[in-house]
Amino acid sequence: MPAAPAFPLTASQGLLFVVSAPSGAGKTSLVAALLKRDPALSLSVSYTTRARRSGEIDGKHYHFVDHQRFEQMIAEGAFIEYARVFDNAYGTAESSLRETLDGGQDLLLEIDWQGARQVRERFPQAVSIFIVPPSLSALEERLRGRGQDSDEVIGERMAKACHELSHWDEYDYLVVNDRFEQALGDLGAIVKAERLRRPRQAAREQDRLRSMLDA
Ligand code: 5GP
Repeated sequence: MPAAPAFPLTASQGLLFVVSAPSGAGKTSLVAALLKRDPALSLSVSYTTRARRSGEIDGKHYHFVDHQRFEQMIAEGAFIEYARVFDNAYGTAESSLRETLDGGQDLLLEIDWQGARQVRERFPQAVSIFIVPPSLSALEERLRGRGQDSDEVIGERMAKACHELSHWDEYDYLVVNDRFEQALGDLGAIVKAERLRRPRQAAREQDRLRSMLDA
C-alpha cells in the first residue's frame, strides 16, 4: 500500500480502537458484547471479497463486494488499510472512518495484524488491542465448534492463527479471553481509561478546570 501522510487525531475527534485476534479467539463475540454495553462506541463495517456466511447481512457484518470492485476501490485510494487473507481481501473505507471520528464518535476496527499495522502508521494515536486465546487447543475447539468450515479450511485457519499470534507484541494492550466476562470487563476498562486520558478530559472539562484554577 502506498505510504500516506500520518495525521494526529484531535481531542474533539472520536477515539480509534483497533482489535485483532487469531481467528477463533472470540473477538467477534467480545466486540459485539462491548458495543451493546457502550452506545458511544461504533463498529466499522469492512469491505470484503469473501463469500457471505449464513446469518451474515450485507452492510451490517461486511460490505460484500467482488474482486473487481475491491481492486477499483484500491485504485481509487478508498481504503485506509486493506489486507489479503488467503484468497480474500478485506479493507476499511477511509471516508466512513473519518466521518465517524470527525463526528466525535469512538470507532472500533476489527481487523487483522496487517491492517492494524497500516492503521498505526496513518493514525499514531489509534489504540490497539490484541485478544489472546487461553490455549491453542481452545482455539481449535472454537474453530471446529463453528461447524461451518471443512478440515482443510480449519487447518489453514489454525496456521493463520499461529501467524496472527506472533504479532501480539505490536499492540498496546493484551486481553486474554479465558473467561468471557473477565475479558469483556478488560476491554471495557481499556476503552474507559483511554477516554479518561488527560488531553481528552482537558478538552471535555476545560470550563470546570478553568473556573477552579482562575478562582
Ligand atoms: P472473517 O473472514 O473470519 O470474517 O475474517 C477473517 C480475518 O479478516 C479476521 O482476522 C478479521 O479481523 C479480518 N478482517 C475483517 N475485516 C478486515 C478489514 O477491514 N481489514 C483487515 N485488514 N482485516 C479485516
